Amino acid sequence: MEKIKLKPCPFCSGDAEITPENLRDVLRIRVACKDCGADITVDSDLNRGSLESHVVNKWNKRAGDLGFCEWTAEWYNGDEYWKTSCKRDFVLEAGLPDENHYDFCPGCGKKIKVKGGD
Ligand SMILES: [Zn+2]
Ligand SMILES: [Zn+2]
Repeated sequence: MEKIKLKPCPFCSGDAEITPENLRDVLRIRVACKDCGADITVDSDLNRGSLESHVVNKWNKRAGDLGFCEWTAEWYNGDEYWKTSCKRDFVLEAGLPDENHYDFCPGCGKKIKVKGGD
């Protein structure tokens, strides 16, 4: 079988791995991120090869489909915080999200895009 290529996790860009599990009636394939545990599973009675590629396609599609979460710097009582397009507020120690090693929004899992800049 040709080697299946998984895209990195859409949430933390960690490595993903495939775990096939044989349940009683169905074969379940799980793709999970080794770092943050994000996963998808598909149950099927398809033969294993096509099921695996189906799951991999699903994972890879999700990794590519997420788009961006836009973060806008705001001020409140002299403290800076970030408003996000998924309607959450985050306070960072200092600096920009990427300087805090935030590549992905912890709220929605999309890649962070900083709006404007100062
Ligand atoms: Zn992850
Ligand atoms: Zn978000």
